[in-house]
This record gives sequence, structure tokens and C-alpha cells, in this order.
Amino acid sequence: MVGIVVVSHSSALVAGLKELVAQMAPQMEQIAFVGGIDDPENPIGTDPMQVMEAINTVADRDGVLVLMDLGSALLSAETALDFLDPEVKKRVRLSPGPVIEGTLSAAVQASLGADLEAVAREAENALQMKRSQLGYEAAPLFTQADNITLSGLELRLDISNPNGLHARPAARLVSCAGSFQAHISLEKDGRVVDAKSINQVATLGVRNGETVLFRFEGEDAEAAREAVCRLHADSFGEPLAAATPAAFSLPLPVSARREGTLCGIPVSEGIAIGPAALPDIRVAEVEKAFCEDVDAEIERFEKCLLLAVEECEQLEHNAEQELGSEEAEIFTFHRLLLQDIETIEATRSLIADKRYTAEYAWKTVTDEVAADYRNIDDEYLRARAADVVDIQRAVLKQLSDIFIPSFEFEEPVILIVHDLSPSEVAGLPKENILGLCLAAGGPTSHAAIIAGSRGIPTVTGIMEALSMVRDGQTIILDCGSGCLYPRPAPGTLAEYDAKKKELEQKRQQLKEQSHGPAITKDGIEVRIAANIAGTTDLSLVQEYDAQGIGLFRTEFLFLDRNSAPDEEEQYRIYQTVGRGMQGRPVIIRTLDIGGDKPVPYLHSEKEGNPFLGLRGIRFTLANRELFLCQLRAILRASFETGIQIMFPMIGAVRELQEAVDLLEQAKQQLREKRLPCNENIPVGIMIEVPSAVAVADQLAPMVDFFSIGTNDLSQYVMAAERGNPRVASLPDPLHPAVLRMVKKTVEAGRLCDVHVGMCGALAGISKAAPLLVGLGLDELSMNAPMIPGQKAAVRDVDSSDAGKIAEQALAMTSADEVRKLLGMDQT
Ligand code: PEP
Ligand code: MG
Repeated sequence: MVGIVVVSHSSALVAGLKELVAQMAPQMEQIAFVGGIDDPENPIGTDPMQVMEAINTVADRDGVLVLMDLGSALLSAETALDFLDPEVKKRVRLSPGPVIEGTLSAAVQASLGADLEAVAREAENALQMKRSQLGYEAAPLFTQADNITLSGLELRLDISNPNGLHARPAARLVSCAGSFQAHISLEKDGRVVDAKSINQVATLGVRNGETVLFRFEGEDAEAAREAVCRLHADSFGEPLAAATPAAFSLPLPVSARREGTLCGIPVSEGIAIGPAALPDIRVAEVEKAFCEDVDAEIERFEKCLLLAVEECEQLEHNAEQELGSEEAEIFTFHRLLLQDIETIEATRSLIADKRYTAEYAWKTVTDEVAADYRNIDDEYLRARAADVVDIQRAVLKQLSDIFIPSFEFEEPVILIVHDLSPSEVAGLPKENILGLCLAAGGPTSHAAIIAGSRGIPTVTGIMEALSMVRDGQTIILDCGSGCLYPRPAPGTLAEYDAKKKELEQKRQQLKEQSHGPAITKDGIEVRIAANIAGTTDLSLVQEYDAQGIGLFRTEFLFLDRNSAPDEEEQYRIYQTVGRGMQGRPVIIRTLDIGGDKPVPYLHSEKEGNPFLGLRGIRFTLANRELFLCQLRAILRASFETGIQIMFPMIGAVRELQEAVDLLEQAKQQLREKRLPCNENIPVGIMIEVPSAVAVADQLAPMVDFFSIGTNDLSQYVMAAERGNPRVASLPDPLHPAVLRMVKKTVEAGRLCDVHVGMCGALAGISKAAPLLVGLGLDELSMNAPMIPGQKAAVRDVDSSDAGKIAEQALAMTSADEVRKLLGMDQT
């Protein structure tokens, strides 16, 4: 804590001041008072040695501020400095502030833990409040820059940001204002708005070269004014050189940019040619409706608003981690829109006064806010209406269980959107979606996984597409290479037209030959299974004749809703899948949430490193009732079906033992209720954490099968987050480090007669078939549309050649070498 020494000619004066400090800053301990001198005859005066001693009693590494009354007090204090230890002296500041007001202000500030700089400033400016209250012009606190004039607790600023106070600087200003108690207003052309409301600040439409007047009222008004002044000096965090609002753009993605193309990360194969659609994502019609219980409705609104804020914070956090702070600011802006007190109050009032439902009240208020943005005479700010629509949608999604925006198009289009939720991708009208370009996210994001499993040609990570492609423009999306041609030349269009036809013919051929098992030339069968996320995938699974379901990602049943599905609902879904597969194996993986799959209503605490946090089995072991409910549902559905059970993210024997014990407990609960199940349901685990590979020999005797999750195994082995475009080339499943882990797992499985499959993205890559067979995998599970290609590739393999290829790959030093070995460097 900063120490304070008060020096006065009068002992009576310092005694009184001591009393005041004790009242106003009771926590202030490091304060010493020096009043008068030791001379009964002539007590008025100051003594340098007493001042020096006082400084030493309160000095520590945070420094000391000395306040003095007048004349010789100043001289004594200066003399005292000469007697101090040089180390102490360095940290002592003599204040020109008024002794009474200055001491009180400094004491309050120091007791709050402020540093010497801030405490000294408080003392110096201690008269400002009194001056402004008495109508005196404030003494200038800051160096008077050309564009800054100060008056009382006002601040007149010229805005020199190229695009005025648009979204980003407005967000910075609102965040700054929000950190003070003071009421801060902002005036332009006679319109006064609250500086803590993002909507009000942004719709004020302050442009480059305009002057605004800030007013500060309340306890920490001084500090707030100073903070705003600093923010202004820092151009509200925006580089002034920027001629246009800096786009929230993604850094150059993995694949090299080819001339005339925008490149991203391929998710699923295919070529799409057609008009681009950049839909203004509108919310479904919200009917005017009334509520019964106003208090309950307001509570529901507040709860859902909070969930939307949390979701937004998660996006902000992810964007910060993956793309950097500039990109994360789009979500900061969204968060501030969600937290805008005016909007919240207006919604609450509509619910309370008109008894509107939360949905209708929120929609009504945010429609008006969006309209305000649309009316601004500034192109950039007008476009922010889309951000209001985004947050409108975010809250409506929380309020309503089945809220899915409609993507209805009159003709087939290539859809370009920032991001979609899994349920939105699941609901896309496939007949009218030629291709999908997701500006954000990585290839293993939820949306990407669903798009791939639905056979929609998809590319992720092309942020520029949002600004460089116009609605209706004919574009090419080459999902094999991950490239988008925003303005293809006629020659390129013709070339891609031919390529597309060729690809479709080849696919059709493969599909026709796909029926039946995949057996290598020398008679080894590799089970080719499908990955699914729900019952809607079943038709594709049957169309492509999967030999089973190798991975049912059940977490998708828990996403995009407000509460977990109960046992009955889960049971019906698992039973539909089990029966639909007519006795073929169906591996149901228990809930794998966390990481990039947060479920806001289940995950209450935010984690710094969610991929290394309470994810998969760790989460379910910590939430036993939820886990037991799912286990019972799976067990019930296993009766007379081929359902098997798989635990995700197992990293240790103890975790598996606990999961198995709970499975036994779930069986017992069913026995007590006389509900049938397959008592001998096969149990397996995902191998996706390096520690599981290390102890695979200990895990193998406890299970019936292993399934290697290369998506996670690669990220954990390479210590590079999957889905983070900045390190997208690192978590490569073809890296020999990952392949050696696969090998070790297969060996451990073999010794215990454990079936070893693979369900990560590597399993579906047909050019890798010889390597995968050579590594000894019994099963490959993939998105259904990849099945025909992989079956054909496996049928073309001879296992002894494959063994040699695997050996070579394991001895290589990089994924690129392995790619070359497999002929994957040629397109
Ligand atoms: C994996 O990690 O490879 C896997 C298949 O699981 P998910 O992608 O669902 O994490
Ligand atoms: Mg995984």
C-alpha cells in the first residue's frame, strides 16, 4: 500500500485531519501525521527530522506521498528527503495538492490499493469537485492537446477515428465507461446519450472530424474522465491509419492462396458452382403473445439473456484464442449489445406493462434498435443492424426450444455464412444447398461435422468470403482444395463444370459398387462404418451401406436446446438407431461435451483451456445423475439390437473403472424396475488422449473394443488445438508421431483380442487406406458419403504391401513425407 505523510505547522490541525481520515478511509493504515514542533513555548512549525522519521515508518516498496501545508512545511519536507536512504527517497513524492482535500482523496485511493501515480494524481486533483460545484472552471488536468478542451467535469473531444465512433471504438468506449460508477453521457448536436449503452453510442453516429461533449457525474467522475481522455488519446484502440473499418478477418488460412481464389480448409469433398447466397439471417416469425405470470416471464427472459451472454463470451474467448483480439472484438460488440441496459429495461417494461411474452418483447425492442441502426446516415454503422439481428437471434434461440432460422431459397445456392449451429446445418434444405462456406471455425467444428455427414460440399475458414462475394454472384467452391473462386473467368467455369461432372460420375460408380463388405485382395475384412449425430443421418447410412455405426456422437442431442433430453427421449432415439441398423453394430458414445462443444445449460463454469478441462468422461463422472440417465437409456435400447457403448476421453484406468462401475449401477437400476437390456453389452473406449495409448495394455483387458479418435489424438499429441486455423497444419493425423500411437494401440488391442477401430477424420481418407490396413485396424468409421470411396480403396489393398507402407510411414519424420508416400501430394 502507498504510504502517506501529512506535514502541518499545527498539531491540532493534523489531529483533526487524522479524525477525518479515520472516518473516510478507515482501511488506510500507512499514514503518519507530523504536526508542530517540540517546543512548548513556540509549538507552531515543522521539523525535517520528524518528517524523515514519519516517511520511514510508512515507507515500503509502493512508495510514499507527502502532503504539506505551507511555507516551511515544504522546506522541511524537501530537507527530509536529503536524510533518507536513497532507495527510499526514490519512491517518495511531494504533492502540490491541498492538504485537507488532498489527504482525504489520497487516503481513499491508497486504501483501495492504487499505485503511487494514481494516489498522487488524486491528491493533486482534489479540488476539482469543489471547483465545479462552486461553478469555477476546472483547472486543466491534462496537457491541453489541440483537440481536447476541458471544462468542469466535462470533456469536449474531436473524434479523429477514420470512421468515427463505429462498432469497435464504440465498444471500447462503452467497456471503459462501464468500469466506472459515474454517470457518463455523450452529446452530439444536442442529442445526449448514455456512454454505457452500446446502442446509444453507436447510433449517435459520431463521424470523423465531429466533436462530442462528455459529461461525468458521480464519485469516480474524475477518474472516469481521465480514462476516457486516455482512450481518446489512444484513438479508442484503433490505428488511425486504417482507411476503412478494420474487417474482423481471419488470417491467411492453411492452404496457399491461389491467384483469384480465397482459400480455406476443406471439410468434405465436392465441387459446387452456382449463385452465392449471403442471407440476412432473419428470425422465424415471432407471434404477438401474452404471458400469464409477469415475474416468471421476466425471470425467464433474464435467464435466457444470461445464457446468450455466456455463449457470446465463449465465442469471444474462442475467437481471441484462435484468431486474435481484433477478431474477438466483433463478439465483444455483440456482448455489449446483449448487455445494453436500455434494451434490457425496455424489454422488461414491455413484459411488465403489456404482458408480452419474453420472445415478443425482446423481438419488438431489438427490431426497433435494428431500425435505429438502419436509419443512420453512415454506411458502416447502418450495416451494424445485422449485428443487432444476430443478438436478437441469440436470445430468441435460448428462449424457444425449437427456434431454427429458415434458409429458404428459390433456387439452389452456395451458402456463405459466418457460422452455423449444428442444428442449423441439420435443418438446411439440402436440395437447395449446392455448397457451404463457413467463414469461421475449423474442419472439426460441429457445423462442419454435420455438413460433412450430410454430404454437403463444405469449406471453412474463409472470412473474406463475407466481404468479397456479393449475393447472387456466380462462384465456384472447390471443396477438395478448399478454394473459393469469387469471380471465376468463363474458362475456369467451363473447366470446373467438366471436373464436377467427372467427379459425380466417379462417385456414382463407386456408390453402385459400394454394396457389401470391404475385403482386401488377400481376404482381410475391414469393417466400414458410419459416424452419425442423430436419427436423421440414418437414411444416408443405409444409402451408402455402412456395415455399422462406428460412432454415434450423442452430444449433438444435447446441443441447441435449454435442457438435457430425459431418459425416455434418449431411449427412443437410441432405439430407433439400433433397430434401424437391424442387428449391425451401433457404437453409442456417451456424452462428450466440453472442448469446442460447450453446453451452456450444463457447463456453468468457463474454463481457460476447455480442451484440457472438464471434457468427455471427466464431465460425466462429475455429473453422475446425468451420466446414469444416459447409461440407462443406452442400456434399454441395447435390448435385442446391436448397440454397444463407448466412453470418450478416457485417459486413465481409474476413469474407465469408475465408468464401468456406473454402468453396472445403471444395469442394477433397470433390473429393479424390471426393464430389459443387453446385460452383456460390449463396452469400449475412445483412444484419443496420449496417456490412454501409454497404458493401452492396461486398458485393453477391461474392454471389448478400442476406437481411435485421430481428431483429438493428433491435437493432444502435437499440442496444437484442433479447429484453430493458426496452427491448423500441426495436429495432422498423418504425422508419424500420431501414427506410432495408432500402431501401439493396435498392438495392445491384439494381445487381448480387442477389436480396434478408428473413427477420427483420417479413417475416411481413401488414399490412406493402405496405411490404415497396414497398421492393422479392424474398422474404419467415417461420414457416410465417404464410405463408397473407402470401401473401393480397401478392396484394392493387398495387406502385405500395406504392411510395408505402414512400416515406411512409421519411420518417416514428417506428415508431408507420409502424404507423399500415399500419393496425397498429387491432386
Ligand atoms: C476424434 O476425436 O477423432 C473423434 C472422432 O471424436 P470427436 O471428433 O467427436 O471429438
Ligand atoms: Mg474426440
